[in-house]
Amino acid sequence: MTYTELPQTFWAYLAGFFDGEGNICCTSPSFRLQLAQSGWRGKVLMEEFRRIFKEECKLPGKIRVTPWIPNAKNMKSWPKKPKNPQTSYRLTVTHRDSVRFILSRMFPFLKIKKVETQDVLRYFRLFPKNQGWNKTRDAVCGKGHPFNQSNTGYINKLRKDGQQYRYCVQCSRERARSTRAGL
Ligand SMILES: [Zn+2]
Repeated sequence: MTYTELPQTFWAYLAGFFDGEGNICCTSPSFRLQLAQSGWRGKVLMEEFRRIFKEECKLPGKIRVTPWIPNAKNMKSWPKKPKNPQTSYRLTVTHRDSVRFILSRMFPFLKIKKVETQDVLRYFRLFPKNQGWNKTRDAVCGKGHPFNQSNTGYINKLRKDGQQYRYCVQCSRERARSTRAGL
């Protein structure tokens, strides 16, 4: 899938922004990219980035802007509470393709977060979709029976990652047997 490209100047601008106010966090099994800025100016800017990513680039997945109001509870660990905490606006990108698209294009312009970004991009390369990303499928069932050719049954339904749902034949036989026995 190819997404609409944006000019280099946009990525340079975004990279400066990301270096200062952005973060990537690993929310197993994926990565989440966030940018935040406070006040109404922050809101306008975050909404504009969201619009560009969704409407111009046509990036997949949820891209949302959410307000975050600092309060006593989530500011406990701060060294000093600001007197008038301003609402900040967070832009969150979660889809793997979108995160990769944005990071790889910002990458040449990054100064502070270059290393983290490179690590995430390497992770994406090392674990292509349906392998490390969507958890690798176990070799045995919950009870330890092997998922080999004769012991694996398939359900005519696809998972999110495009693979078929499967079940352990031995377990289903045992379940059927105990049902018949009235257990
Ligand atoms: Zn089993």
